[in-house]
Amino acid sequence: MRLSEQFAKTTKNVPADEVSRNAQLLIQAGFIYRGMAGVYAYLPLGLRVLENIKNIVRTEMNGLGAEELIMTSLQRQELWQETDRWDDEKVDVWFKSQLKNGTPVGFGWSHEEPIMAMLKSYIASYRDLPVAVYQFQTKLRNELRAKSGIMRGREFIMKDLYALSKDEKELQAFYDQVSDAYIRIFEKVGLGDATFLTYASGGAFTQFSHEFQVITDAGEDIIYVDRSKKIAVNKEVYNDEVLKQLDLSTDQLEEVKSAEVGNIFNFGSSKSKQLGVYYADHNGVEQPVYLSSYGLGVTRLMGVIAEFFADDKGLVWPENVAPALVYIARLGNQPEVVKQADELYIRLTDAAIQVLYDDRDIRPGEKFADADLLGIPHRIVISEKTVQRGTFEWKKRDTTEAQQVNAEQLAKSLGIDTQALL
Ligand code: ATP
Ligand code: MG
Repeated sequence: MRLSEQFAKTTKNVPADEVSRNAQLLIQAGFIYRGMAGVYAYLPLGLRVLENIKNIVRTEMNGLGAEELIMTSLQRQELWQETDRWDDEKVDVWFKSQLKNGTPVGFGWSHEEPIMAMLKSYIASYRDLPVAVYQFQTKLRNELRAKSGIMRGREFIMKDLYALSKDEKELQAFYDQVSDAYIRIFEKVGLGDATFLTYASGGAFTQFSHEFQVITDAGEDIIYVDRSKKIAVNKEVYNDEVLKQLDLSTDQLEEVKSAEVGNIFNFGSSKSKQLGVYYADHNGVEQPVYLSSYGLGVTRLMGVIAEFFADDKGLVWPENVAPALVYIARLGNQPEVVKQADELYIRLTDAAIQVLYDDRDIRPGEKFADADLLGIPHRIVISEKTVQRGTFEWKKRDTTEAQQVNAEQLAKSLGIDTQALL
């Protein structure tokens, strides 16, 4: 990607209508565009980050044997009435509209009901279970406040997985597997140490649900963490009785602000009974299906990563999610400099490395500032000086000192074969 050809530009101006750091930085860096409060478009660089996160999540979901699909945004009133979740008194985030003939429709804010209704037509006997399906979908929610940038949108992308099991035991085994997969996801995006499996309020069926909370001041939740046990309790369920039950003691707990990036629920057989989803067991006896659901806020996670790693100069992406691994800053237009920078760009691209090539006619200081703002993990400078010395100037985003390195050292730090650079 040549920066001279990108329509999205960086800006030094902090957007006046944004109070959250993630939205300020992502807008300044040209990753997202604000349509209105809580509504953001993902521009090419932002989309790359989003796709990287989705692919990490997708790999883990596929590893569980879950099948990817995509449900509809438009929702039928009657279906949600069956579980008493249509009424605005019951669910306060609905966006609703109506068809030309006056039939009410809602916009999907979650998908348990439509998934159950859909799977009902495929499930008849124990042979059809268990089933796990998931999607990445834009959820629409009429949130009261939207001041946390992409961490709380009125339109946002969620990965939601739904599992239908034959009984409580089968459900629990899968629940634990998904929980482990979530932990791996947070490790892969660099948040392993900051993420805590958290006991939170449950649904109709179980006392607790489990949240995956990341410690950050940008979050809207308060949790109590036990760092040695690597678990936490959400303030909403925090009391003496719960602590006793979980074998936690107040002197081991630390109160912190956090952001909920994932939430997993055991619905038991409650939804199946409401929606009539039954299967015939080995004896031909009708049994209700057990439902568990597993949400993960993909765009919220991107916002949390942006906030968590940022410094005073801008974004700092972990390599696994960065929109590119390398930023090439070409200083000057001397033919030899242009030639070397172009060559490096082509060689790295051929070696399957994603590169942002700053080939613009602007001052070096502006290029360095943009490299920092965009948060690309490796910065390589090609200038008259490096051409004369026969070196590359290499710096990692999270270090201050640039180093002069040769092709071999550069290749090593990028994890590629030296041959690729020669
Ligand atoms: P919150 O308490 O933050 O409103 P929630 O309990 O409504 O979250 P769920 O309905 O369980 O969240 O949704 C699953 C995941 O989707 C959440 O863990 C979170 O990561 C994400 N999410 C929920 N609401 C939003 C939103 N408005 N914007 C961005 N992500 C969201
Ligand atoms: Mg909510």
